[in-house]
Amino acid sequence: MKKLIWSFLSLAAFLFLLPTMTHAAADSPIRLYLNEEKLEPAVPPYLSGNTTMVPARVISEAFGAIVNWDNASHKMTVLRDEQKIEVFENSTLGYVNGVKVTLPAAPVVKAGTTLLPVRFIAEHFDFTVQWDSTLQAVYLKTPDAVADIAGHTELWSITTTSDKVTIQAGDKMDANVFALSDPERIVIDIPNAVAGGSLPRLDAETATQTVASTNPLVSQIRYAINDSETATIRVVLDTNGKVPYEVVSEPGSSKLVLALKKPANGKYKVVIDAGHGGTDPGAISVTGKPEKTFNLSVAKKVKALLDKEKEIDAYMTRSTDTFVTLDNRAAFANQLGADVFVSIHGNNFTASSNGTQTYYYNSYSKTLADTLHKYLVAATGFRDDKVRKEDFRVIRKTEMPGVLLEIGYLSNKTEEALMFTNAFQDKVAAAIVKGIKGYLGV
Ligand SMILES: [Zn+2]
Repeated sequence: MKKLIWSFLSLAAFLFLLPTMTHAAADSPIRLYLNEEKLEPAVPPYLSGNTTMVPARVISEAFGAIVNWDNASHKMTVLRDEQKIEVFENSTLGYVNGVKVTLPAAPVVKAGTTLLPVRFIAEHFDFTVQWDSTLQAVYLKTPDAVADIAGHTELWSITTTSDKVTIQAGDKMDANVFALSDPERIVIDIPNAVAGGSLPRLDAETATQTVASTNPLVSQIRYAINDSETATIRVVLDTNGKVPYEVVSEPGSSKLVLALKKPANGKYKVVIDAGHGGTDPGAISVTGKPEKTFNLSVAKKVKALLDKEKEIDAYMTRSTDTFVTLDNRAAFANQLGADVFVSIHGNNFTASSNGTQTYYYNSYSKTLADTLHKYLVAATGFRDDKVRKEDFRVIRKTEMPGVLLEIGYLSNKTEEALMFTNAFQDKVAAAIVKGIKGYLGV
């Protein structure tokens, strides 16, 4: 009977706690690093208030601790060297070597996994715990790893948004920011620094590391040791043309924030490329219509919609039924210094082939591809046939983020019929424009 009451009580406790747990889990998962390694447990760590909750298995592996779970008392024992920590599910009461303590957050069981407040455990095992508020990451460090950094400012993360680049460090930085030309780039020199946190390490003095950029004005971010005597790390933002910037963070703080301004006239240049044309019809549809006609019709609709945007200047590689080589299409966009390149196509394979695909080639085009694809698939209503990397000449040779869209299959009766209707093309054009705007942040 006693047992039955206990089960009932734990069930009640479980039900009572459910909404709280669901709420906590809804918070965006946080990143977790142990020294140089990113840990990716099946149940992701999350924030409960200001406390990071981490699966016990991660703790046992990262700290070399032994973790025991006692089902009867809902007690977890964590053992390492001479240290013994005892905690209880859903209770902030705990014991460290038999001495009663209060935990910053109660351990919880989620999807069969027990999560513990990592900072509480780490500190008792002599690990350093650091919080990167920019990246939303926790860095766990062994004493050895902390000693390696001693006396240097550790750069933790380099992140981008649609209008900013942020360098987060563990300590104050005295950064020197300036622009260089040929090619255009923004340079940030940070003396007495080491790459750490989430950043790939610079193991050799000649090593260069890169970080992906989601900012349309920055094609790539790279960093290297620029002067080993002063331990200066140089971070270079390779920009798409000359990009005015402003340092908007407090000087000498642990966070450096650069606000990137739009190009000189305040407008983004978008090139719309209607595939094929003239002597090159592209695919012939199941009812005998040429792909080039579909491509041009959608491209013109996109251009018309973009022309209504104050912050965008739109261009077309062809606006009539003419033949333009692939190299000339890319060269046109490159010479223009375009910010975005979108090539429009209709696909062709078997009668049963179906779906919408978005292609990119250069790594700096991946974010544009992901953004556009999301809107495009929603608009076509066709099967989501994924964002794919492929060596298509026109998107390989474009020096700015560029994508090639395969809207649907002209060899498929159902898709073809829709693709040659005005309503469908209008919807697709609107989605492409939404994607471009979403990517540019306008
Ligand atoms: Zn084509």
